[in-house]
Amino acid sequence: MTAGAMSPLEAELRALIAAKGPIPVSDYMALCLAHPTHGYYMTRDPLGRAGDFITAPEISQMFGELIGLWAAAAWQQMGGPAPVRLIELGPGRGTLMADVLRAAYALPAFRSALRVHLVETSPVLEQRQRELLGALTVPIAWHRDLAEVPDGVSIILANEFFDALPIHQAVKSTEGWHERVVSLDDAGRLAFATAPSPSLPIAARVPAHLDEQAEPGTVFEWRCADIPRALAARLAHGGAALIIDYGHAESGLGDTLQAVRGHRYADALETPGEADLTAHVDFAALRTVAERAGARAFGPLTQGELLGRLGIEKRAARLKAAAPTKAATLDAAIARLTSAGSSGMGTLFKALALAHPALAPLPGFE
Ligand code: SAH
Repeated sequence: MTAGAMSPLEAELRALIAAKGPIPVSDYMALCLAHPTHGYYMTRDPLGRAGDFITAPEISQMFGELIGLWAAAAWQQMGGPAPVRLIELGPGRGTLMADVLRAAYALPAFRSALRVHLVETSPVLEQRQRELLGALTVPIAWHRDLAEVPDGVSIILANEFFDALPIHQAVKSTEGWHERVVSLDDAGRLAFATAPSPSLPIAARVPAHLDEQAEPGTVFEWRCADIPRALAARLAHGGAALIIDYGHAESGLGDTLQAVRGHRYADALETPGEADLTAHVDFAALRTVAERAGARAFGPLTQGELLGRLGIEKRAARLKAAAPTKAATLDAAIARLTSAGSSGMGTLFKALALAHPALAPLPGFE
C-alpha cells in the first residue's frame, strides 16, 4: 500500500508504536473497533448486503421472533415479574429488538411489563436503532455501558456482541507464553510480533491440557472477563440471558482473529479501522466466568439445535401460509440459519443461556 492510501488510524497507530513501543493485540483490536474518531463501529453501519457482514436477525425476521417467544417464555417461568428490563448488548440496526418486540405482542402482560435498554457504543448504530424503534410505545433507553442500566430483574440478549470484544493473544515458545503484540517491521509497517519475555500470569491462564498440546508457535486467546462477570452479577437480581455468537464450545488453541471487509476476509493489519475485526467466542471460558460470578449456565447448544427446539419450522410454515410467494426465501433463510458446515450458521454459532441460580432450565435448554 502506498503512504497516501494509509488509513488515518494506521498513521496514528504507527506513530503510537514508534513512540511507545509495541501494543498488545487486544489494544490493537480495541483501537480498530472503538477509537473515538476512526474506530470501525464509530464511523459506519457495517451491517447488511452493502456493508461488510450480515447477521442472523438481518437474514430473517424468524430469528428475532423466536428469541422474542423465548424471552416471553423465560419471563413466564420467572413468575411474570413487572417491571422487567429487556436489555440488548450491541443491538446493531435494532432489527433483533424490533422482531423480539413484535413477537412479545403475543403476550400483552409481558409487553406491558417491559422496559427496554439498549447498550450501544456506536453513535451511528444508535441513530439507526432510534429510527427503527423510536416510535414504539414501549419505554426505551440507550446506554454506552451495561453498568448504566438500573438494577432489577432482567432479560439480556446479545447476538454477535462478544465476538466484537477485544481478545488477547499469547504465543508459546520453549520458555513459556508470550503476549502477542503489534509492532513495526523494518519498513515501518504494522507487523505481528511477540513480547520478548514469557509471562507467568499468561501461562497461568492456559488450561493445562492445552499447554501440554501446544507446540512452540501455537497461539492461545482469551478475552477480558469484565462484561460477562457484570452480566452474571446482574442476574443475582433475577432474570436470564441468551448469548448467541460464533465460536467453540470447548476452549482451544489457534489464532481466530479475523478481519472482514465487503463480505470478504481481509488482512487484520491492513486498513485498520476500515475492516471488521472479530474472534471466536470461547463458550467454555464464558460459562466458567458466569458460573463463578454466581449465575446458572445452560448449554451451549448449536444455533441450529436452539432454533429447531424453539420451532423455526412451525414459524416458517405460518409465515408461508400467510405469504406463499415467500416460501423459497423462508426455506433459504432456514438453511442459512440452521445448517451445518461453512455455508450455514447452524453449528458454527452457539447459544449459551445464563440465569439466576434458582431458575430451572430455560426454554430450549431443557
Ligand atoms: N447484534 C447485532 C449487531 C452485531 S455487530 C446483530 O446481530 O445484527 C456488534 C454490535 O455491538 C454493534 O452494534 C456494535 O456497535 C456493538 N458493540 C461493539 N462493542 C461494543 C461495546 N463494547 N459495548 C456496546 N456495544 C458494542
